[in-house]
Amino acid sequence: MLKQFEEIATSPKEQFDKFLLEGKKVVLCAPVYTPNEIIHSMGLIPFGTWGADMGISNAKQYYPAFICSIIQSILELGMKGSFDGASAIVIPSLCDSLKSLGENWKYAVDKIPFIPMVYPQNRKEDFGIDFTVSRYKRVIEDLERITNVQFCESSLISSLEMYNRHNKVMREFSDAVSRYSSITAEERSYVFKSSYFMDVEEHTSMVEELIELINEAPTVLDSKTRIILTGILADNANLLGIMDENKFHIVSDDLAHESRQYRVDSETEGNALLNLASKFARMDNCSVLFDPKKGRADYLLDQVKTNDANGVIFCMTKFCDPEEFDIVIIKNTLDNAGIPNVTIEIDRQMENYEQARTILQTFKEVLG
Ligand code: SF4
Repeated sequence: MLKQFEEIATSPKEQFDKFLLEGKKVVLCAPVYTPNEIIHSMGLIPFGTWGADMGISNAKQYYPAFICSIIQSILELGMKGSFDGASAIVIPSLCDSLKSLGENWKYAVDKIPFIPMVYPQNRKEDFGIDFTVSRYKRVIEDLERITNVQFCESSLISSLEMYNRHNKVMREFSDAVSRYSSITAEERSYVFKSSYFMDVEEHTSMVEELIELINEAPTVLDSKTRIILTGILADNANLLGIMDENKFHIVSDDLAHESRQYRVDSETEGNALLNLASKFARMDNCSVLFDPKKGRADYLLDQVKTNDANGVIFCMTKFCDPEEFDIVIIKNTLDNAGIPNVTIEIDRQMENYEQARTILQTFKEVLG
């Protein structure tokens, strides 16, 4: 089963083409949070795109070098035609780089319509929730116009239920891996990553089956070092391979690309759009969600205790300003609590991971 997850996670283009061949309409979803439930409820396929590890050439016409490579590689893929056939792309406004992606996309990839999803900074107050609902309505109007498919409130309730089920299995999967160190960092990542390129129903069933197999197997906790990853994403096979070489057991994560997507469920009674906006309002502990108290640092401390972790690795996406603001507070909090931690800088154009290897080897030696 792990091999199947790997095959899907490493072949997004094949998955994309398969949906198109089946006659399905695919809507691209950029980081960090998009209303996938709305897209799903309309019978469309929400297809995640967090860029790819690749060289950047065409996107350089639009971006200077000091923009995060996730954004640059999404635009590069669009300009190279990798998404040809997609009905639209939804790009949220959650950081300055994402805001510029939408505007650049309109000119650089004009055959795939750009749908903005504008979120309020103050998402928790009633006026913030109302604003989020109004922006969901804008997304729905655009989707209806572009795809000729009608939105239906009751279908959205079913989709909220489906996504709640998916959230639950992803949380259970992370817990199961923390008790079963035979699953490598790379394999764990493939299970999360594959979800972006699959029907949510199919991914949920596969993960449920995998959890059953893990639960039937005897607990395996060898001498690996128990680690929590934090950051935007850590999906590069070379990087994860170094973690595996050094016998790091990823017992939990606070990655935007992985567990942050699955922490909060929607209410399923009452007004569906309001429920979805309330879910967004209740989401926390993420660098792109406004939080003057920066609760993410204490959240990580709790995660370390709950998972009996030996240390934290901060996977710092180069030129990501939301994460750069958080890192100082997180580092100080972990240092003050005596939690070993280390930062590695990563980006999607890296070919050589030797610097990360040296840092991680040293971290392993320090942890013993
Ligand atoms: S990595 Fe950072 S800068 Fe890039 S899109 Fe994500 S939040 Fe924005």
